[in-house]
Amino acid sequence: MSSTPAPSASIATAAFTDAVGRRRTFAIISHPDAGKTTLTEKFLLYAGAVGEAGAVKSRRVARAARSDWMKLEQERGISVSSTVLHFAYGDWRFNLLDTPGHADFSEDTYRTLCAADAAVMVLDIAKGLEPQTLKLFQVCRDRGLPIVTFVNKCDRPGLPPLGLLDEITEQIGLQPVPITWPVADGSDFAGIVDRRTDELVRYDRTAHGARKGQEVVEPWATADPQGCPPDRWDAAKEELELLDMEERVLDQDAFLGGTQTPVFFGSALQNFGVRLLLEGFAELAPPPSASPVDEPADAGARPVAAPFAGQVFKVQANMNPRHRDRMAFLRVNSGTFERGMSATLARTGRTYQLKYAHQLFAADRNTVDLAVAGDIVGLVNAADLVPGDTLYTDDAVTFPPIPTFAPEKFVSVRTTDTKRYKQFRKGLVQLDEEGVIHVLRRPEFGDQEPILAGVGQLQFEVAEHRFEHEFGCPVRMQPLQWEVARRIDASAVDALRGQFKTMVVEDSQGNHMALFASSVALDKAERDHPDIAFEPLGTGL
Ligand code: GDP
Repeated sequence: MSSTPAPSASIATAAFTDAVGRRRTFAIISHPDAGKTTLTEKFLLYAGAVGEAGAVKSRRVARAARSDWMKLEQERGISVSSTVLHFAYGDWRFNLLDTPGHADFSEDTYRTLCAADAAVMVLDIAKGLEPQTLKLFQVCRDRGLPIVTFVNKCDRPGLPPLGLLDEITEQIGLQPVPITWPVADGSDFAGIVDRRTDELVRYDRTAHGARKGQEVVEPWATADPQGCPPDRWDAAKEELELLDMEERVLDQDAFLGGTQTPVFFGSALQNFGVRLLLEGFAELAPPPSASPVDEPADAGARPVAAPFAGQVFKVQANMNPRHRDRMAFLRVNSGTFERGMSATLARTGRTYQLKYAHQLFAADRNTVDLAVAGDIVGLVNAADLVPGDTLYTDDAVTFPPIPTFAPEKFVSVRTTDTKRYKQFRKGLVQLDEEGVIHVLRRPEFGDQEPILAGVGQLQFEVAEHRFEHEFGCPVRMQPLQWEVARRIDASAVDALRGQFKTMVVEDSQGNHMALFASSVALDKAERDHPDIAFEPLGTGL
Protein backbone atom coordinates (compact mmCIF):
# COMPACT_ATOMS: atom_id res chain seq x y z
CA MET A 1 0.00 0.00 0.00
CA SER A 2 1.24 3.43 -0.78
CA SER A 3 1.44 6.01 2.00
CA THR A 4 0.03 8.81 -0.11
CA PRO A 5 -2.47 10.75 2.00
CA ALA A 6 -6.11 10.20 1.14
CA PRO A 7 -7.30 12.84 -1.33
CA SER A 8 -9.98 13.98 1.12
CA ALA A 9 -7.28 15.26 3.49
CA SER A 10 -6.03 17.84 1.01
CA ILE A 11 -9.58 18.86 0.11
CA ALA A 12 -10.31 19.38 3.77
CA THR A 13 -7.21 21.50 4.09
CA ALA A 14 -8.13 23.61 1.09
CA ALA A 15 -11.64 24.07 2.45
CA PHE A 16 -10.27 24.99 5.85
CA THR A 17 -7.81 27.52 4.43
CA ASP A 18 -10.57 28.99 2.33
CA ALA A 19 -12.95 29.21 5.30
CA VAL A 20 -10.38 30.89 7.51
CA GLY A 21 -9.38 33.28 4.74
CA ARG A 22 -12.95 34.55 4.55
CA ARG A 23 -13.20 35.29 8.25
CA ARG A 24 -13.05 38.86 9.46
CA THR A 25 -13.19 39.07 13.22
CA PHE A 26 -13.38 42.67 14.36
CA ALA A 27 -14.67 45.22 16.81
CA ILE A 28 -16.07 48.70 16.42
CA ILE A 29 -14.61 51.34 18.68
CA SER A 30 -16.05 54.78 19.21
CA HIS A 31 -17.05 57.42 21.66
CA PRO A 32 -20.66 57.06 22.84
CA ASP A 33 -23.11 58.53 20.31
CA ALA A 34 -20.71 58.48 17.36
CA GLY A 35 -22.93 55.86 15.74
CA LYS A 36 -21.58 52.43 16.60
CA THR A 37 -25.02 50.92 17.21
CA THR A 38 -26.39 52.42 14.03
CA LEU A 39 -23.44 51.18 12.00
CA THR A 40 -23.74 47.69 13.49
CA GLU A 41 -27.36 47.65 12.56
CA LYS A 42 -26.57 48.78 9.02
CA PHE A 43 -23.94 46.12 8.58
CA LEU A 44 -26.64 43.62 9.48
CA LEU A 45 -29.02 45.27 7.05
CA TYR A 46 -26.50 45.04 4.21
CA ALA A 47 -25.71 41.46 5.14
CA GLY A 48 -29.38 40.63 4.92
CA ALA A 49 -29.34 39.54 8.54
CA VAL A 50 -32.13 41.95 9.42
CA GLY A 51 -34.81 42.76 6.87
CA GLU A 52 -35.29 46.35 7.79
CA ALA A 53 -33.49 48.70 10.09
CA GLY A 54 -35.88 50.33 12.52
CA ALA A 55 -36.06 53.91 13.58
CA VAL A 56 -32.71 54.08 15.21
CA LYS A 57 -33.82 56.59 17.77
CA SER A 58 -35.99 53.98 19.41
CA ARG A 59 -33.29 51.42 18.85
CA ARG A 60 -35.91 48.80 18.22
CA VAL A 61 -33.97 46.69 15.81
CA ALA A 62 -30.73 47.54 17.47
CA ARG A 63 -32.13 45.97 20.58
CA ALA A 64 -33.24 42.86 18.80
CA ALA A 65 -29.93 42.61 17.05
CA ARG A 66 -27.94 43.08 20.19
CA SER A 67 -28.18 41.28 23.42
CA ASP A 68 -31.44 42.43 24.78
CA TRP A 69 -31.10 40.89 28.16
CA MET A 70 -30.48 43.69 30.48
CA LYS A 71 -33.14 46.18 31.33
CA LEU A 72 -30.55 48.49 32.70
CA GLU A 73 -29.07 48.75 29.27
CA GLN A 74 -32.35 50.03 27.95
CA GLU A 75 -33.11 52.25 30.88
CA ARG A 76 -29.78 53.94 30.76
CA GLY A 77 -29.59 53.86 27.00
CA ILE A 78 -26.04 52.66 27.14
CA SER A 79 -24.53 49.45 26.05
CA VAL A 80 -23.20 47.51 29.00
CA SER A 81 -22.98 44.05 27.58
CA SER A 82 -20.69 42.58 25.06
CA THR A 83 -22.12 40.55 22.26
CA VAL A 84 -20.82 38.72 19.26
CA LEU A 85 -22.68 39.08 16.01
CA HIS A 86 -22.08 36.83 13.06
CA PHE A 87 -23.02 37.83 9.58
CA ALA A 88 -22.14 37.02 6.03
CA TYR A 89 -21.69 39.45 3.18
CA GLY A 90 -20.70 38.11 -0.21
CA ASP A 91 -18.06 35.51 0.46
CA TRP A 92 -17.04 37.10 3.73
CA ARG A 93 -17.90 35.78 7.16
CA PHE A 94 -17.82 38.47 9.79
CA ASN A 95 -17.60 38.05 13.52
CA LEU A 96 -18.37 41.41 15.05
CA LEU A 97 -17.40 41.80 18.66
CA ASP A 98 -19.46 44.51 20.23
CA THR A 99 -17.45 46.45 22.73
CA PRO A 100 -19.31 48.47 25.33
CA GLY A 101 -18.71 52.13 24.73
CA HIS A 102 -19.04 53.29 28.28
CA ALA A 103 -15.81 54.30 29.93
CA ASP A 104 -16.61 52.34 33.08
CA PHE A 105 -16.66 49.13 31.18
CA SER A 106 -13.15 49.38 29.96
CA GLU A 107 -12.07 46.02 31.35
CA ASP A 108 -14.74 44.21 29.43
CA THR A 109 -13.82 46.12 26.34
CA TYR A 110 -10.14 45.37 26.70
CA ARG A 111 -10.87 41.68 26.96
CA THR A 112 -13.10 41.74 23.95
CA LEU A 113 -10.50 43.54 21.90
CA CYS A 114 -8.14 40.66 22.68
CA ALA A 115 -10.32 38.48 20.46
CA ALA A 116 -10.37 40.84 17.45
CA ASP A 117 -8.08 40.90 14.41
CA ALA A 118 -8.97 44.46 13.40
CA ALA A 119 -11.13 47.38 14.44
CA VAL A 120 -13.36 49.95 12.81
CA MET A 121 -12.95 53.31 14.51
CA VAL A 122 -16.12 55.38 14.12
CA LEU A 123 -15.79 59.15 14.34
CA ASP A 124 -18.57 61.71 14.32
CA ILE A 125 -17.65 64.15 11.54
CA ALA A 126 -18.76 67.05 13.70
CA LYS A 127 -16.63 65.98 16.65
CA GLY A 128 -13.55 64.21 15.39
CA LEU A 129 -11.52 62.23 17.88
CA GLU A 130 -13.22 62.11 21.27
CA PRO A 131 -11.83 60.94 24.62
CA GLN A 132 -13.25 57.42 24.65
CA THR A 133 -12.17 56.88 21.06
CA LEU A 134 -8.64 57.86 22.00
CA LYS A 135 -8.63 55.47 24.93
CA LEU A 136 -9.88 52.57 22.86
CA PHE A 137 -7.54 53.46 20.04
CA GLN A 138 -4.66 53.15 22.47
CA VAL A 139 -5.75 49.63 23.40
CA CYS A 140 -5.97 48.65 19.75
CA ARG A 141 -2.54 50.08 19.12
CA ASP A 142 -1.09 48.23 22.09
CA ARG A 143 -2.59 45.02 20.81
CA GLY A 144 -1.34 45.67 17.30
CA LEU A 145 -4.81 45.78 15.76
CA PRO A 146 -5.04 47.41 12.34
CA ILE A 147 -7.66 50.16 12.29
CA VAL A 148 -10.06 51.24 9.58
CA THR A 149 -11.60 54.65 10.21
CA PHE A 150 -15.20 55.49 9.39
CA VAL A 151 -16.15 59.16 9.52
CA ASN A 152 -19.85 59.08 10.26
CA LYS A 153 -22.76 61.52 10.11
CA CYS A 154 -21.77 63.13 6.81
CA ASP A 155 -25.46 63.82 6.31
CA ARG A 156 -24.99 66.59 8.84
CA PRO A 157 -22.72 69.63 8.74
CA GLY A 158 -19.32 68.62 10.04
CA LEU A 159 -15.68 69.60 10.35
CA PRO A 160 -13.72 70.02 7.11
CA PRO A 161 -12.57 66.50 6.16
CA LEU A 162 -8.98 67.60 5.45
CA GLY A 163 -8.83 69.07 8.95
CA LEU A 164 -10.06 65.76 10.35
CA LEU A 165 -7.25 63.94 8.58
CA ASP A 166 -4.75 66.34 10.16
CA GLU A 167 -6.32 65.72 13.54
CA ILE A 168 -5.84 61.97 13.14
CA THR A 169 -2.19 62.47 12.19
CA GLU A 170 -1.49 64.91 14.99
CA GLN A 171 -3.40 63.28 17.81
CA ILE A 172 -2.77 59.60 17.26
CA GLY A 173 0.13 59.54 14.88
CA LEU A 174 -1.59 57.41 12.28
CA GLN A 175 -1.31 58.38 8.66
CA PRO A 176 -4.89 58.56 7.38
CA VAL A 177 -5.39 57.43 3.79
CA PRO A 178 -8.85 58.32 2.48
CA ILE A 179 -10.29 55.50 0.40
CA THR A 180 -13.52 57.36 -0.09
CA TRP A 181 -14.28 61.08 0.07
CA PRO A 182 -17.52 62.96 0.72
CA VAL A 183 -18.81 65.53 -1.73
CA ALA A 184 -20.08 68.22 0.63
CA ASP A 185 -22.00 67.45 3.81
CA GLY A 186 -25.28 68.20 5.53
CA SER A 187 -28.11 69.00 3.14
CA ASP A 188 -25.59 69.72 0.36
CA PHE A 189 -24.23 66.17 0.52
CA ALA A 190 -23.99 64.93 -3.06
CA GLY A 191 -22.40 61.52 -2.74
CA ILE A 192 -19.15 59.75 -2.04
CA VAL A 193 -16.18 59.40 -4.35
CA ASP A 194 -14.45 56.05 -4.36
CA ARG A 195 -10.82 57.05 -4.86
CA ARG A 196 -9.88 53.54 -5.99
CA THR A 197 -12.12 53.74 -9.04
CA ASP A 198 -12.63 57.51 -9.35
CA GLU A 199 -16.34 56.96 -9.30
CA LEU A 200 -19.01 58.98 -7.59
CA VAL A 201 -21.67 57.05 -5.72
CA ARG A 202 -24.92 58.94 -5.27
CA TYR A 203 -27.50 57.80 -2.77
CA ASP A 204 -31.21 57.84 -2.32
CA ARG A 205 -32.39 58.98 1.05
CA THR A 206 -34.80 56.35 2.37
CA ALA A 207 -37.01 57.09 5.35
CA HIS A 208 -34.73 56.82 8.41
CA GLY A 209 -32.38 54.74 6.26
CA ALA A 210 -34.56 51.74 7.03
CA ARG A 211 -33.82 50.13 3.68
CA LYS A 212 -30.77 50.01 1.50
CA GLY A 213 -31.21 52.99 -0.79
CA GLN A 214 -30.66 53.01 -4.51
CA GLU A 215 -27.07 53.79 -5.47
CA VAL A 216 -26.10 55.42 -8.74
CA VAL A 217 -22.46 55.04 -9.71
CA GLU A 218 -20.86 57.25 -12.36
CA PRO A 219 -17.39 58.47 -13.29
CA TRP A 220 -16.45 61.35 -11.01
CA ALA A 221 -14.67 63.25 -13.79
CA THR A 222 -17.84 63.66 -15.81
CA ALA A 223 -20.40 63.73 -13.00
CA ASP A 224 -22.84 66.58 -12.80
CA PRO A 225 -23.27 68.59 -9.56
CA GLN A 226 -27.05 68.34 -9.82
CA GLY A 227 -28.39 70.01 -6.66
CA CYS A 228 -24.98 70.48 -5.00
CA PRO A 229 -23.92 74.15 -4.70
CA PRO A 230 -21.08 74.73 -7.21
CA ASP A 231 -18.65 76.04 -4.59
CA ARG A 232 -19.02 72.88 -2.50
CA TRP A 233 -18.72 70.64 -5.54
CA ASP A 234 -15.56 72.45 -6.61
CA ALA A 235 -14.17 72.28 -3.10
CA ALA A 236 -14.53 68.49 -3.14
CA LYS A 237 -12.78 68.41 -6.54
CA GLU A 238 -9.89 70.45 -5.18
CA GLU A 239 -9.60 68.31 -2.06
CA LEU A 240 -9.45 65.17 -4.14
CA GLU A 241 -6.80 66.67 -6.42
CA LEU A 242 -4.81 67.65 -3.39
CA LEU A 243 -5.00 64.13 -1.99
CA ASP A 244 -3.85 62.76 -5.34
CA MET A 245 -0.96 65.21 -5.42
CA GLU A 246 0.09 64.24 -1.93
CA GLU A 247 0.17 60.66 -3.17
CA ARG A 248 -1.68 59.38 -0.17
CA VAL A 249 -1.84 55.76 -1.12
CA LEU A 250 -2.56 52.87 1.09
CA ASP A 251 0.25 50.51 1.82
CA GLN A 252 -1.18 47.25 3.12
CA ASP A 253 1.90 46.58 5.26
CA ALA A 254 1.70 50.03 6.83
CA PHE A 255 -1.98 49.44 7.58
CA LEU A 256 -1.35 46.02 9.09
CA GLY A 257 1.64 47.38 10.96
CA GLY A 258 -0.48 50.12 12.51
CA THR A 259 1.07 53.18 10.90
CA GLN A 260 -1.67 53.90 8.37
CA THR A 261 -5.43 53.90 8.64
CA PRO A 262 -7.68 53.70 5.59
CA VAL A 263 -10.49 56.24 5.96
CA PHE A 264 -14.06 55.89 4.71
CA PHE A 265 -16.75 58.55 4.91
CA GLY A 266 -20.50 58.19 5.10
CA SER A 267 -23.62 58.20 7.17
CA ALA A 268 -24.64 55.08 9.01
CA LEU A 269 -28.09 56.51 9.56
CA GLN A 270 -28.69 57.27 5.89
CA ASN A 271 -26.75 54.25 4.60
CA PHE A 272 -24.33 56.52 2.74
CA GLY A 273 -21.02 54.80 2.22
CA VAL A 274 -21.92 51.78 4.34
CA ARG A 275 -21.52 49.31 1.48
CA LEU A 276 -18.21 50.86 0.46
CA LEU A 277 -17.02 50.60 4.05
CA LEU A 278 -18.14 47.01 4.50
CA GLU A 279 -16.59 45.84 1.24
CA GLY A 280 -13.48 47.93 1.74
CA PHE A 281 -13.05 46.67 5.25
CA ALA A 282 -13.48 43.05 4.12
CA GLU A 283 -10.80 43.49 1.47
CA LEU A 284 -8.34 45.30 3.67
CA ALA A 285 -8.73 43.73 7.10
CA PRO A 286 -6.61 40.68 7.80
CA PRO A 287 -8.01 37.17 8.12
CA PRO A 288 -7.15 35.28 11.31
CA SER A 289 -3.45 34.54 11.54
CA ALA A 290 -1.04 32.69 13.82
CA SER A 291 -1.55 33.49 17.52
CA PRO A 292 1.38 34.25 19.79
CA VAL A 293 1.77 31.66 22.55
CA ASP A 294 3.25 31.66 26.03
CA GLU A 295 3.95 27.97 26.06
CA PRO A 296 5.70 26.07 24.70
CA ALA A 297 8.19 28.89 25.11
CA ASP A 298 10.02 28.14 21.88
CA ALA A 299 6.86 27.82 19.75
CA GLY A 300 6.47 31.54 19.06
CA ALA A 301 3.03 31.34 17.53
CA ARG A 302 0.36 28.76 16.79
CA PRO A 303 -0.53 28.72 13.08
CA VAL A 304 -4.22 28.76 12.23
CA ALA A 305 -3.90 25.36 10.57
CA ALA A 306 -2.62 23.72 13.77
CA PRO A 307 -5.00 21.43 15.68
CA PHE A 308 -7.82 23.07 17.59
CA ALA A 309 -6.87 25.63 20.24
CA GLY A 310 -8.78 28.60 21.54
CA GLN A 311 -8.86 31.10 24.34
CA VAL A 312 -11.67 32.24 26.61
CA PHE A 313 -11.76 36.02 26.60
CA LYS A 314 -14.93 36.66 28.52
CA VAL A 315 -17.31 34.91 30.85
CA GLN A 316 -20.83 36.07 31.42
CA ALA A 317 -23.61 34.69 33.55
CA ASN A 318 -27.33 34.74 32.85
CA MET A 319 -27.09 36.35 29.47
CA ASN A 320 -30.67 35.69 28.72
CA PRO A 321 -33.43 35.49 31.29
CA ARG A 322 -34.89 32.61 29.30
CA HIS A 323 -31.70 30.62 29.61
CA ARG A 324 -30.23 30.73 33.07
CA ASP A 325 -26.67 29.89 32.40
CA ARG A 326 -23.11 30.89 32.33
CA MET A 327 -21.45 31.49 29.03
CA ALA A 328 -17.76 31.47 28.27
CA PHE A 329 -16.79 33.18 25.02
CA LEU A 330 -13.96 31.45 23.27
CA ARG A 331 -12.08 32.60 20.25
CA VAL A 332 -10.91 29.74 18.10
CA ASN A 333 -7.25 30.50 17.39
CA SER A 334 -6.37 27.43 15.39
CA GLY A 335 -7.96 24.43 13.78
CA THR A 336 -11.60 23.51 13.88
CA PHE A 337 -14.02 23.48 16.76
CA GLU A 338 -16.58 20.74 16.52
CA ARG A 339 -19.59 20.27 18.66
CA GLY A 340 -19.21 17.52 21.16
CA MET A 341 -15.43 17.50 20.99
CA SER A 342 -13.30 17.28 24.07
CA ALA A 343 -10.24 19.40 24.60
CA THR A 344 -7.64 19.91 27.28
CA LEU A 345 -7.89 22.86 29.62
CA ALA A 346 -4.32 24.13 29.77
CA ARG A 347 -4.63 25.54 33.30
CA THR A 348 -5.51 22.19 34.86
CA GLY A 349 -4.32 19.73 32.23
CA ARG A 350 -7.71 18.05 32.48
CA THR A 351 -10.00 17.00 29.67
CA TYR A 352 -12.87 19.32 29.07
CA GLN A 353 -16.05 18.28 27.29
CA LEU A 354 -17.32 20.95 24.93
CA LYS A 355 -20.74 19.48 24.64
CA TYR A 356 -23.00 22.42 24.23
CA ALA A 357 -21.59 25.08 22.04
CA HIS A 358 -23.70 27.92 20.87
CA GLN A 359 -23.10 30.91 18.77
CA LEU A 360 -25.05 34.00 19.56
CA PHE A 361 -27.10 35.80 17.09
CA ALA A 362 -29.96 38.16 17.87
CA ALA A 363 -32.12 36.79 20.65
CA ASP A 364 -31.84 33.27 19.34
CA ARG A 365 -29.01 30.91 19.65
CA ASN A 366 -27.88 28.88 16.74
CA THR A 367 -26.09 25.80 17.74
CA VAL A 368 -22.64 25.70 16.23
CA ASP A 369 -21.54 22.47 14.77
CA LEU A 370 -18.31 23.68 13.36
CA ALA A 371 -16.25 26.79 13.84
CA VAL A 372 -12.85 27.57 12.40
CA ALA A 373 -9.97 29.78 13.46
CA GLY A 374 -11.20 33.33 13.94
CA ASP A 375 -14.71 32.33 14.97
CA ILE A 376 -16.17 33.04 18.38
CA VAL A 377 -18.02 30.32 20.19
CA GLY A 378 -20.18 30.76 23.24
CA LEU A 379 -19.74 27.76 25.53
CA VAL A 380 -22.80 27.22 27.64
CA ASN A 381 -22.58 26.12 31.24
CA ALA A 382 -18.85 26.16 31.08
CA ALA A 383 -18.72 26.19 34.84
CA ASP A 384 -15.01 26.29 35.50
CA LEU A 385 -13.69 28.34 32.62
CA VAL A 386 -12.26 31.76 33.41
CA PRO A 387 -11.09 34.56 31.12
CA GLY A 388 -7.68 33.80 29.70
CA ASP A 389 -8.12 30.02 29.74
CA THR A 390 -6.67 28.08 26.82
CA LEU A 391 -8.34 24.94 25.48
CA TYR A 392 -6.55 22.75 22.99
CA THR A 393 -6.40 19.37 21.35
CA ASP A 394 -3.24 17.49 20.35
CA ASP A 395 -0.21 19.77 20.74
CA ALA A 396 -0.26 21.45 24.14
CA VAL A 397 -0.36 25.22 24.09
CA THR A 398 -1.05 28.12 26.42
CA PHE A 399 -1.91 31.54 25.07
CA PRO A 400 -0.68 34.67 26.87
CA PRO A 401 -2.91 35.91 29.69
CA ILE A 402 -5.65 38.38 28.92
CA PRO A 403 -4.94 41.80 30.42
CA THR A 404 -6.65 42.55 33.69
CA PHE A 405 -6.97 45.86 35.42
CA ALA A 406 -6.42 46.96 38.95
CA PRO A 407 -9.64 47.85 40.76
CA GLU A 408 -9.86 51.49 41.75
CA LYS A 409 -13.35 51.68 43.21
CA PHE A 410 -14.72 49.79 46.18
CA VAL A 411 -18.15 49.38 47.74
CA SER A 412 -19.47 47.23 50.53
CA VAL A 413 -22.57 45.25 49.71
CA ARG A 414 -25.22 43.59 51.82
CA THR A 415 -28.62 42.16 51.13
CA THR A 416 -31.56 44.11 52.47
CA ASP A 417 -33.65 40.95 52.65
CA THR A 418 -32.04 38.53 55.07
CA LYS A 419 -34.34 35.72 53.95
CA ARG A 420 -32.62 35.84 50.58
CA TYR A 421 -29.13 35.28 51.83
CA LYS A 422 -28.68 32.16 49.74
CA GLN A 423 -29.45 34.06 46.55
CA PHE A 424 -27.11 36.80 47.68
CA ARG A 425 -24.24 34.32 48.08
CA LYS A 426 -24.97 32.79 44.71
CA GLY A 427 -24.93 36.20 43.07
CA LEU A 428 -21.59 37.01 44.66
CA VAL A 429 -20.05 33.79 43.42
CA GLN A 430 -21.33 34.38 39.92
CA LEU A 431 -20.09 37.96 39.70
CA ASP A 432 -16.74 36.90 41.02
CA GLU A 433 -16.42 34.08 38.52
CA GLU A 434 -17.20 36.37 35.62
CA GLY A 435 -14.09 38.16 36.73
CA VAL A 436 -15.08 41.69 35.89
CA ILE A 437 -15.92 42.59 39.44
CA HIS A 438 -13.86 41.27 42.34
CA VAL A 439 -15.53 40.05 45.50
CA LEU A 440 -13.40 40.57 48.59
CA ARG A 441 -14.05 39.63 52.18
CA ARG A 442 -12.82 41.20 55.34
CA PRO A 443 -11.59 38.41 57.59
CA GLU A 444 -12.92 40.15 60.69
CA PHE A 445 -16.40 40.33 59.13
CA GLY A 446 -16.51 36.67 58.11
CA ASP A 447 -18.87 36.37 55.17
CA GLN A 448 -20.82 39.47 56.13
CA GLU A 449 -20.74 42.59 53.99
CA PRO A 450 -18.26 41.66 51.36
CA ILE A 451 -16.53 44.32 49.32
CA LEU A 452 -16.95 44.65 45.59
CA ALA A 453 -13.99 46.05 43.72
CA GLY A 454 -14.17 47.32 40.18
CA VAL A 455 -12.79 49.80 37.74
CA GLY A 456 -15.87 52.00 37.43
CA GLN A 457 -19.05 53.08 39.14
CA LEU A 458 -21.30 51.72 36.44
CA GLN A 459 -20.14 48.20 37.18
CA PHE A 460 -21.62 48.50 40.64
CA GLU A 461 -24.89 49.79 39.29
CA VAL A 462 -25.05 46.84 36.95
CA ALA A 463 -24.24 44.47 39.83
CA GLU A 464 -26.92 46.06 41.99
CA HIS A 465 -29.44 45.63 39.22
CA ARG A 466 -28.44 42.05 38.67
CA PHE A 467 -28.69 41.19 42.36
CA GLU A 468 -32.26 42.37 42.38
CA HIS A 469 -33.48 41.17 38.99
CA GLU A 470 -31.36 38.15 38.27
CA PHE A 471 -30.37 36.67 41.58
CA GLY A 472 -33.56 37.74 43.32
CA CYS A 473 -32.16 39.62 46.29
CA PRO A 474 -32.17 43.38 46.70
CA VAL A 475 -28.91 44.81 48.00
CA ARG A 476 -27.58 48.00 49.44
CA MET A 477 -24.17 49.26 48.45
CA GLN A 478 -22.05 51.74 50.31
CA PRO A 479 -19.07 53.44 48.69
CA LEU A 480 -15.81 52.89 50.56
CA GLN A 481 -12.92 55.25 50.72
CA TRP A 482 -10.29 52.84 49.36
CA GLU A 483 -8.49 53.80 46.21
CA VAL A 484 -5.54 51.51 45.71
CA ALA A 485 -5.21 47.74 46.09
CA ARG A 486 -2.03 45.69 46.33
CA ARG A 487 -1.58 41.96 46.60
CA ILE A 488 0.37 40.88 49.65
CA ASP A 489 1.70 37.64 50.95
CA ALA A 490 -0.17 35.89 53.77
CA SER A 491 2.87 36.43 55.99
CA ALA A 492 2.41 40.21 55.72
CA VAL A 493 -1.17 40.24 56.95
CA ASP A 494 -0.45 40.67 60.64
CA ALA A 495 2.02 43.48 60.12
CA LEU A 496 -0.51 45.49 58.09
CA ARG A 497 -3.64 44.87 60.07
CA GLY A 498 -4.85 48.02 61.80
CA GLN A 499 -2.33 50.25 60.05
CA PHE A 500 -3.18 53.83 59.16
CA LYS A 501 -5.70 54.06 56.28
CA THR A 502 -5.12 50.44 55.36
CA MET A 503 -7.34 47.38 55.30
CA VAL A 504 -6.48 43.75 54.69
CA VAL A 505 -8.91 41.68 52.65
CA GLU A 506 -9.06 38.30 50.94
CA ASP A 507 -10.35 37.31 47.53
CA SER A 508 -12.26 34.13 46.73
CA GLN A 509 -9.07 32.22 46.04
CA GLY A 510 -7.72 33.11 49.46
CA ASN A 511 -5.23 35.67 48.15
CA HIS A 512 -4.58 38.55 50.47
CA MET A 513 -4.78 42.16 49.50
CA ALA A 514 -4.19 45.42 51.23
CA LEU A 515 -6.46 48.33 50.40
CA PHE A 516 -5.21 51.86 50.88
CA ALA A 517 -7.21 55.06 51.17
CA SER A 518 -4.77 56.86 48.89
CA SER A 519 -1.45 56.48 47.15
CA VAL A 520 0.02 58.46 50.04
CA ALA A 521 -1.09 55.72 52.45
CA LEU A 522 0.46 53.13 50.14
CA ASP A 523 3.73 55.09 50.00
CA LYS A 524 3.79 55.20 53.78
CA ALA A 525 3.16 51.45 54.07
CA GLU A 526 5.97 50.80 51.59
CA ARG A 527 8.33 52.99 53.60
CA ASP A 528 7.29 51.46 56.93
CA HIS A 529 7.52 47.88 55.68
CA PRO A 530 10.39 47.63 53.24
CA ASP A 531 10.35 43.85 53.72
CA ILE A 532 6.80 43.46 52.35
CA ALA A 533 6.22 43.10 48.63
CA PHE A 534 3.20 45.13 47.53
CA GLU A 535 2.26 43.66 44.16
CA PRO A 536 0.11 45.76 41.85
CA LEU A 537 -3.07 44.03 40.71
CA GLY A 538 -3.97 43.52 37.11
CA THR A 539 -1.54 42.96 34.32
CA GLY A 540 -2.45 46.17 32.54
CA LEU A 541 -1.82 46.21 28.86
P1 GDP B 1 -23.47 54.75 19.72
O1 GDP B 1 -23.64 55.32 21.09
O2 GDP B 1 -22.09 55.00 19.17
O3 GDP B 1 -23.89 53.33 19.59
O4 GDP B 1 -24.39 55.64 18.76
P2 GDP B 1 -25.81 55.36 18.10
O5 GDP B 1 -25.66 54.48 16.93
O6 GDP B 1 -26.78 54.98 19.14
O7 GDP B 1 -26.11 56.81 17.55
C1 GDP B 1 -26.23 57.91 18.41
C2 GDP B 1 -27.18 58.92 17.79
O8 GDP B 1 -26.64 59.39 16.57
C3 GDP B 1 -28.54 58.32 17.44
O9 GDP B 1 -29.51 59.29 17.69
C4 GDP B 1 -28.43 58.04 15.97
O10 GDP B 1 -29.68 58.11 15.32
C5 GDP B 1 -27.53 59.15 15.51
N1 GDP B 1 -26.77 58.76 14.33
C6 GDP B 1 -26.04 57.65 14.11
N2 GDP B 1 -25.49 57.67 12.89
C7 GDP B 1 -25.89 58.82 12.31
C8 GDP B 1 -25.67 59.41 11.03
O11 GDP B 1 -25.00 58.88 10.16
N3 GDP B 1 -26.24 60.62 10.82
C9 GDP B 1 -27.02 61.25 11.75
N4 GDP B 1 -27.53 62.42 11.44
N5 GDP B 1 -27.24 60.72 12.95
C10 GDP B 1 -26.70 59.52 13.23
